[in-house]
Amino acid sequence: MIIDMHNHLSVKGSPYHLPAEEYLKAMDEAGVDKAVILGKDYGKLGEGQEGNLPDEDVSEFVKAHPDRFIGFTAVHPDWDERENVERIERAVNDLGLKGIKLNPASGFYPNDERLYPAYKKAEELDIPVVIHMGVKPPSEGSRLKYCHPTYLDDVAVDFPDLKIIVAHACYPWVEETIMVGLYTGNVFADISTLNQVEDVLGYEVLLPTLRKLTLSLGVSRVVFGSDGIFNLEPIISAVKNADFLSDSDREKILWKNAQEILKI
Ligand SMILES: [Zn+2]
Repeated sequence: MIIDMHNHLSVKGSPYHLPAEEYLKAMDEAGVDKAVILGKDYGKLGEGQEGNLPDEDVSEFVKAHPDRFIGFTAVHPDWDERENVERIERAVNDLGLKGIKLNPASGFYPNDERLYPAYKKAEELDIPVVIHMGVKPPSEGSRLKYCHPTYLDDVAVDFPDLKIIVAHACYPWVEETIMVGLYTGNVFADISTLNQVEDVLGYEVLLPTLRKLTLSLGVSRVVFGSDGIFNLEPIISAVKNADFLSDSDREKILWKNAQEILKI
């Protein structure tokens, strides 16, 4: 069993919008059973770029293959606090979505108090929040300053029961992220896209990061994610071949932790 905790769907009409069959083919080839399809809300920035993804599109996509896909909604502090809370309630109760994605690079710090009602709602509904941290997104207008783990610490402290998944292990601020998660039980890290970061930077990133996370936070707080349907195999084989992991560690990272977080 393998669960991909971090995958995407592009908006309809985009050249990157692929049919579910393409996903299923890639997943079958890589031995991936289930993939989380994250929501996209870049606020007003995303509206201008037509990059925001309606929850209905995510829901329609995942509902066609409910045994293979799990959908997430997304919120942004550019919108009214109550609107965000209502969106979460509707996404979970009416559309069957199972978590929230946040994209701070589009213009907000994770500890922005306008998001506190949304965090509170997520805590109450017991659904996880995946937050893009670290790794600068290539999209126009993205700003790295918002992706620093210092701003995540408040959220981890103020919402001790909220399951926070730090996307990309907040690379390069992995050690800072470890400090944020060290004395809490609610901070997890996904290792998505770190192989691609490695290709761009020209030095090892994925395995050293995985090793640091497992040594400090422990294997129960690391989850596999790809960040794209064509990036499944490299990360899976890195986990499978990591000589510092036991078979039971690999199982936790590749699916058991995700299963527990998602309650599936
Ligand atoms: Zn992503």
